[in-house]
Amino acid sequence: MIIQFNSAISAPEKEQIAQAVAKLGYKTTEVTTQGNHYLVGIGKQEFDLRTLGHMPGIKDIHRVSDDYKLVSRKWKVGRSQMDLGDGVTIGEGKLAIMAGPCSIESEQQVALTLQHLKDNDVRIMRGGVFKPRSSPYAFRGMGVDGLKLWYKQAKEAGIKIVTEVMQVSQIAEMYDYVDVFQVGARNTQNFNLLDELGKVDKAVMIKRGISGTIEELLYSAEYVFSAGNEKLILCERGIRTYEKASRNTMDINAIPILKEKTHLPVVADPSHGIGIREFVEPVALAAVMAGADGIIYETHQQPEKAASDGQQTLDFAESALLIQKLKKAYEFLHAL
Ligand code: PEP
Ligand code: MN
Repeated sequence: MIIQFNSAISAPEKEQIAQAVAKLGYKTTEVTTQGNHYLVGIGKQEFDLRTLGHMPGIKDIHRVSDDYKLVSRKWKVGRSQMDLGDGVTIGEGKLAIMAGPCSIESEQQVALTLQHLKDNDVRIMRGGVFKPRSSPYAFRGMGVDGLKLWYKQAKEAGIKIVTEVMQVSQIAEMYDYVDVFQVGARNTQNFNLLDELGKVDKAVMIKRGISGTIEELLYSAEYVFSAGNEKLILCERGIRTYEKASRNTMDINAIPILKEKTHLPVVADPSHGIGIREFVEPVALAAVMAGADGIIYETHQQPEKAASDGQQTLDFAESALLIQKLKKAYEFLHAL
């Protein structure tokens, strides 16, 4: 059950509601997010919602049969949209395109990428400064210095930043320079990190774990939401299967399933999803047709020279073409 409190609820009213819910045998967690105040009740007993609904301090009450609650679509009318400021949004009504290199490498690379994005009317740039790499000898990112040089130019260009945070200690040092914190596939179930991101007033994009189920992704989002941050985006980026012909198996199925299960925006990452440059485009288009609210992909001025993931990275000409096709596909789908 989810109870939405009135913003002006008093302490005694809250106490009375908590007692009434406890009487039903429900365990409760109070959740205060950026703009809302909830009481989440976990229990099995059937009861008539009207027995609680009239109590002072309650704005609304909902029964949610899913085991995750706040991220479930069962209680929320409409879908959530993340507002990144300056007219940049993710979710509902508009396709969000996020593009950029796998890794931030230099001032010049950032300048070229930002120009490419501006030329194509893309408002969000991706890039990693802390890179989770399979080998410890591979390039592991420029760190906060890279983020600062990126931020300086991105702010001037009016472009938002989505970048991966790998551990709790990085949140504070990254905070001022980030618009969306990305939780990478290797960290989807880093519950300490998720808890801490729940205390942050910035959007968080959670990628699906490499071998994670759809339900586990929803639970990861529930961690962040229940810790106080409801600015959430989910990302399907392919999962590990027995198939070796592609880097990962892009789970297109996850897109309509997630959209049915959650009110949060769902985006797709075809670059990591298939891992092969020539096939990023068809997978990206398939994700749009499956209902994705956004696409995040890798592009670089010279993919063959990229410090990481060049094999799945589009050059700017390919990227420009993809952007046109994504927009057309989205328009086509929504005109049907
Ligand atoms: C990335 O976005 O570059 C990345 C490392 O993604 P993932 O966590 O999905 O592997
Ligand atoms: Mn990458």
